[in-house]
Amino acid sequence: MANREKFLSGITILLLTCCPWASRAASQAEGISPVPADPEIAAALRNVSSQRIQQTIEKLVSFQTRHTLSSDVPASTGKGINAAAEWIKGEFESYSKACGGCLEVKTDEFTQEPGNRVPRPTKLTNVYAILRSSDASNASRIVLVTGHYDSRNSETNDATGASPGANDDGSGTAVSLECARVLSQYKFPATIIFLTVAGEEQGLYGSAHFAKMARAQGWNIEAVLNNDIVGGDKTPGDTKQDPHTVRVFSEGIRAAAAESASVPGRGLGGENDGPSRQLARYIAAVSPAYFPPDNFHPMIVFRRDRYLRGGDHISFNEQGYAAVRFTEYRENYDHQHQNVRTENGVEYGDLPKFVDYSYVANVARLNAATLASLASAPAPPAKVRILTKALVNDSTLVWEASPGGLTTGYLVLWRDTSAPDWERAQTFGNVTQATLPMSKDNVIFAVQATDANGHRSLPVVPVPER
Ligand SMILES: [Zn+2]
Repeated sequence: MANREKFLSGITILLLTCCPWASRAASQAEGISPVPADPEIAAALRNVSSQRIQQTIEKLVSFQTRHTLSSDVPASTGKGINAAAEWIKGEFESYSKACGGCLEVKTDEFTQEPGNRVPRPTKLTNVYAILRSSDASNASRIVLVTGHYDSRNSETNDATGASPGANDDGSGTAVSLECARVLSQYKFPATIIFLTVAGEEQGLYGSAHFAKMARAQGWNIEAVLNNDIVGGDKTPGDTKQDPHTVRVFSEGIRAAAAESASVPGRGLGGENDGPSRQLARYIAAVSPAYFPPDNFHPMIVFRRDRYLRGGDHISFNEQGYAAVRFTEYRENYDHQHQNVRTENGVEYGDLPKFVDYSYVANVARLNAATLASLASAPAPPAKVRILTKALVNDSTLVWEASPGGLTTGYLVLWRDTSAPDWERAQTFGNVTQATLPMSKDNVIFAVQATDANGHRSLPVVPVPER
């Protein structure tokens, strides 16, 4: 080992002294400064309560089933999905009362026509709360957190049997609610939406309806955080769960074909730089500002979702929005989509006793940190382009100023084409053009707007301007 270190440091010295390509690399090696912690966001995160999350999940389980097809059972019975929807609405309203009416609590109710896993016309209700901005020039910018409150057991269409859904997706619903409870105590320049949807288990119907409505009404949603199965399953005897890690899944190239022109195409290596992937990297950059990485950190997975699985972020991806999925590190399939029973000594069912409430609280904190960071930050720069008219060995980027008046400067980020995350950065003032002394052929660039307090927008990868 000692010899190997000597050998490597010998190489470094050699590179730094002898070779032009080595010194070029050194001059570019301006690391990216860590995202600074915002004291107000840190204070908000301290209010996230694992006890509140436990109460929320136990209450959701108490409705016995939240199956989407139970929507013909009246809420007054205290059972079924309507009772759950009314309770969620009441929770949002109580948070709003605690912040002087700062939340607009709404429902998006519609009839889902028969289709796959929906045998008859079925009422679906999405329940959400809007924390509107008081800054008129940034109010149209939206960041959104969601979880699905419907549940299921072993039978896809069993609307009456017990379907506790503590983890799937009581945990994600609790994240939306807890983010609403703590962040509604603060004001942000952009708007935050706290969403809970129905119909996920039957085929993403609730989120599809909501995302289409958002697109049809021209909502400017910058980021969607979908939390589904974030309970940190703690099966007795399981030593492979990692309570310090949450997975974050993101698509690479945009699902929405109409939007695919917004990143450099396949021929230029844009496969790893769709907006959802920028959002995933953003989460990874924000996390260390609020968590010692050994305590808790996101694990960025470069795929849209797990094998054979999907989730509500896909509904937003399909409408062209940046959207990612949070899921616990290791899932236990005995505790998802299972009838509650014991067989050969194995306990099946999605029960509260398998949920790690401290873990869900950390997932909620990471969501709240991301929402608050984005809602505090300037809008991303618009129309970011890289000039490609001339064959030259430096790189010129141009953009339109980030709208909304919060921006005091820009960061140009770059990385080797083979690197997974941004590696280097250069700071610029309030300009709309930057020339960097390296070839665009060798790196991937992005531009990020920054404000005086160190908040950063989502990075935007340039498209070529010919
Ligand atoms: Zn789920």
